[in-house]
Amino acid sequence: MSFDALALANAATAALHAYDPGHDLPALRRAHGALLAELGSNENVFGPSPRAVAAMREAIGEAYRYPDPKGGALKQALAAQLGIAIDRIALGNGSHELLMLLAQCFAGPGTSTVYSQFGFAVFPIATAAAGAEGIRVPAYPREHVRRYGHDLDAIAAAVRPDTRLVFLANPNNPTASWFAQGELASLLERVPATALVVVDEAYQEFVDDDGPRSALDLVARHPNLVVTRTFSKAHALAGLRVGYLVADAGVVAVIERLRESFNVNAIALAAAEAALSDQEHLEKARAWTFAERTWLSGELAARGYEVLPSQTNFLLVDLGRDATGLEQHLFARGVIVRPMGGYGLGHTLRISIGRRDENERLLAALP
Ligand code: PMP
Repeated sequence: MSFDALALANAATAALHAYDPGHDLPALRRAHGALLAELGSNENVFGPSPRAVAAMREAIGEAYRYPDPKGGALKQALAAQLGIAIDRIALGNGSHELLMLLAQCFAGPGTSTVYSQFGFAVFPIATAAAGAEGIRVPAYPREHVRRYGHDLDAIAAAVRPDTRLVFLANPNNPTASWFAQGELASLLERVPATALVVVDEAYQEFVDDDGPRSALDLVARHPNLVVTRTFSKAHALAGLRVGYLVADAGVVAVIERLRESFNVNAIALAAAEAALSDQEHLEKARAWTFAERTWLSGELAARGYEVLPSQTNFLLVDLGRDATGLEQHLFARGVIVRPMGGYGLGHTLRISIGRRDENERLLAALP
């Protein structure tokens, strides 16, 4: 019997590609041990709050039970901290899941989504998985001061009557770029109520005082605004997979229809709630990231590399020529950075801010 599973897959899924992690990290860890510098995945190596770690340990004993399907305690803690009603919050197995759910719930065949040329990779994937058309809007060009960043005017102009989602990331991965709240406010004035504007704020906590303010300030005024956040970055809980979104209660109610009932596991719920209670640790993680970001980008610049301004926990280095050789040179020396060819940015490398010893190994390994 000839059997072709791909031919059976629906058209939207058949058009996708499996996630490419770049390298087999578990195998590399076995091979290099502590000498591996993992600067490829934008993890927060400052580490999680000790309170979160203690909460995980405690939750293990109860993990034979299903988790709270409503995530009530975590939502309550978020609502109190953000000063919003609990029915404006949805929880996800990472914010990635929430981006996918938004597309599944609101986009579909015969509709479109809009995102920037170098917007986060999940935006086109979520769009394709929902069977919608993705409208990719040119980013600011290389010579622009906001190199590769979202052009919010062009994005607003690209919205059509069939557009259901506008995906923005502020700051954005992989470009490390950001936009001001005033620009978002002006886009929100122009996007009709037939489209949701999704602002992915995975890196928001890494914005320093002069950077963009969170779009959360605008949610109360714009029922079609959705803000996604994560515990993976500043809270350093990437391995647990927990994120949340803040939106109009009606949007949350739609998502709840499709959300898998136990999408956030019990250990993640407990850890995220504890992490949220430890603002002091969060502030330390932020301060450490700001200092290391300034130091590493200065060291790279001093060696002649062009580092784009960053309000995230990673740096985008623009080589102005194909970056494959440098990526392989570093890889051969146990330093993992992320090539960006998949984004059409093959002349750049994305480098996460690592521990100081990892960052020093990167600098030492440069040709
Ligand atoms: N948004 C952006 C911009 C990201 O870079 C990432 C992770 N790389 C995510 C969302 C998803 O993060 P998570 O699913 O861990 O919350």
